[in-house]
Amino acid sequence: MLRARETVREMHEYHPPLAGRNGLRLDFNENTEGCSACVLERIRQITADELARYPEREPVEGIVAAHLGLPPEQVLLTNGVDEAIHLLCEAYLERAHEVMVVTPTFSMYEIFAEATGAKVVRVQCGADLRFPFDKVLATITPVTRLIAIASPNNPTGGTASGGELLMIAAAAPQAAVFVDEAYFEFHGKTVMSDVVAQPNLFVARTFSKAYGLAGLRIGILAGPAKQMPMVRRVSSPYSVNAIALAALPVALADKAYVASYVAQVRAGRERLEQELSRAHIQWWPSEANFILFRVGEGHRAFVSAMRQHGILVRDRSADPGCDGCVRVTIGTTEQMAQCLAALRAVFTELKLNAEVRA
Ligand code: PMP
Repeated sequence: MLRARETVREMHEYHPPLAGRNGLRLDFNENTEGCSACVLERIRQITADELARYPEREPVEGIVAAHLGLPPEQVLLTNGVDEAIHLLCEAYLERAHEVMVVTPTFSMYEIFAEATGAKVVRVQCGADLRFPFDKVLATITPVTRLIAIASPNNPTGGTASGGELLMIAAAAPQAAVFVDEAYFEFHGKTVMSDVVAQPNLFVARTFSKAYGLAGLRIGILAGPAKQMPMVRRVSSPYSVNAIALAALPVALADKAYVASYVAQVRAGRERLEQELSRAHIQWWPSEANFILFRVGEGHRAFVSAMRQHGILVRDRSADPGCDGCVRVTIGTTEQMAQCLAALRAVFTELKLNAEVRA
């Protein structure tokens, strides 16, 4: 009988709840407005010839590298950040290695790491859900080969400082330190330029969030000049398709679009924070396009009541340290007005902190 590898047989299936997402999508941290009109126009102009050819990634990598201020050989375009994570696991991990993840965090680090047979070591955030810098440092061992850190982190919205990330990279020279900047645009701080001097630092970005292109699947992996050839060896030359490659330069050029979207998200984030504080709901400071807050025992009822009001939000109660928590993506100004109205109604319906708001 055909059997998958032992490590694969032991893995759980990861099945994000994508079915039946009707309503205002505040559940997956996507852009809620739709991409720049220029990008859509470029995609509409795709020709049969462009589709008939195998996609050529290098010219677009050059444009992206110039945008980031990096040499082109240090930049690899990927099929989303997901592929970037997969490639690092493929390039660096063996069974005897440890992969450090800081929980709660994005699931794909563990999934791709586990598939290699390497050991996943979880470093849990404290109750404040802040980045546990000292614990991370103390958990590094000679067999730590990959350290995955999302900054801003999902689902907490918390960040690690540039100084902390560089100290971790220096403390674990035998490990690939992977900084996932999927939510960079909403935060504005980066360690991207440090991939030039740091021999073990990798930084990823995505076009799935601020740029509104989650469906196109485009990510960036930047890393040390000496290491990127190793990563390229395990990557398909065609994992970024022709439509994505055509759209990418246009997306980068429309800076006004991203700036305006990010400004709305930042303002919306503040409005939601104020609303949650007013309702005496515990929330955690976020530098991303979402906020995690604690509803308590009624988390399931909350998510389903929000759905009744036409708004999809994500139950994160099962994440380590997130008991009773939900995560709400921040949308445009108009969408946040709709979200806040629903939130107030649901708080009342479920009598959450009713005595406080009465
Ligand atoms: N990293 C983090 C921290 C994320 O939250 C997500 C999306 N949920 C991703 C990566 C996935 O990015 P992409 O769509 O580029 O694969």
